[in-house]
Amino acid sequence: MMETANLFELENRHGSGAYGKRPTALVRGEGVYAFDQLGNRYLDATSGQGVAALGHCHPAVIKAISEQAATLITCHESFYNDRRAELYQLLASIMPADLKRFFLCNSGAEANEGALKVAKLLTGRDGIVAAKRSFHGRTTGALSLTWTQKYRKPFQEWLPAVDYVAFNDIQAARDAITDATAAVVVEAIQGEGGVHPADDEYLGALRERCDQKGAMLIIDEIQTGFGRTGNWFAFEHAGIVPDIISVGKAIAGGLPMGAVCWRDAHGPIDRATHGSTFGGNPLACAAALAAVAAIRDEGLVERARVNGEWFIDELSALKLPGVRQVRGRGLMIGLELRGRVTPILKALQEQGVLALPAGLNTLRLLPPLIISREQLSVVASAIEAVLG
Ligand SMILES: *Cc1c(COP(=O)(O)O)cnc(C)c1O
Repeated sequence: MMETANLFELENRHGSGAYGKRPTALVRGEGVYAFDQLGNRYLDATSGQGVAALGHCHPAVIKAISEQAATLITCHESFYNDRRAELYQLLASIMPADLKRFFLCNSGAEANEGALKVAKLLTGRDGIVAAKRSFHGRTTGALSLTWTQKYRKPFQEWLPAVDYVAFNDIQAARDAITDATAAVVVEAIQGEGGVHPADDEYLGALRERCDQKGAMLIIDEIQTGFGRTGNWFAFEHAGIVPDIISVGKAIAGGLPMGAVCWRDAHGPIDRATHGSTFGGNPLACAAALAAVAAIRDEGLVERARVNGEWFIDELSALKLPGVRQVRGRGLMIGLELRGRVTPILKALQEQGVLALPAGLNTLRLLPPLIISREQLSVVASAIEAVLG
């Protein structure tokens, strides 16, 4: 194996420079654990940025990828394909109500780009309303929906105008949504912005106002989807049905994939108005088939709900002096700290636990949904050791 110093040197020398990197090379994964090059084991409460809901290298995903790799890797959507048809059927079976139309793509940002195009095509309008503190991705369309200034600022002139409203402010949303609004875009739980759940009444009010004005309600479920919050999708907690949702991250067990999903009542979009070379490729579809079926068959949605409630109670009961508030739903949890999160992430890693930031002051936990209570207790103990 390449020497660690050499590996760092090569990435720093030739990488884009766009990423701040931790001085650790992860080279192997197994269930809830990731291993570095020196053989150190970490409990991965990042799930690789919310992707590895099934943990690392789930056997069903390995098998599906291996078999499909030896069968057919690429097949453009101008042809039909068996794996893709099966995936549409499986996705349609887990989506509530008439959310049965899909456009398959390759990432979260691409799913949000597609969601915006679908909204424009379905309404013929241009106006976009998004929330302050939002994160929807880095491509120009998705970036226009992303509030965080440090991501937007260098590109401001290229970005379409978006009307930003305060998150969870019903009156502000009512005022902003007009007859010119094509789409209102929100996360059901703001992830990068600090793990802030949308109030059920807020999502209900958005639904009502969009109906009044004929605007599309887009919910970004890229981080919250596929069981993370204790329902298949986080909007279900509010008892509403959006017009369009975007998904990504956990959908394909670790392979890159995204999807736009919209209500059958709106019908298909016109031919040639959207497309993707890799979108719906059989390899990603096979991985997604295995991953989504495993989440369903292993009861991980329910498990995330029950274990998440338990874990949030455990963390709250610690009453840690360094923690201002514990927030979240299911296994999407944020601890708002009294200080900066970066040194805490470093200290947790020294305790053998990998966690994420969400903004400057929030510690974010997105453990694999397969995690046991014993393993969650290990995470809690490490947090107690560092913040107690
Ligand atoms: C991660 C994320 C995205 C962007 O997904 P990429 O695959 O990185 O493009 C968009 N929205 C939300 C809510 C996310 O968490």
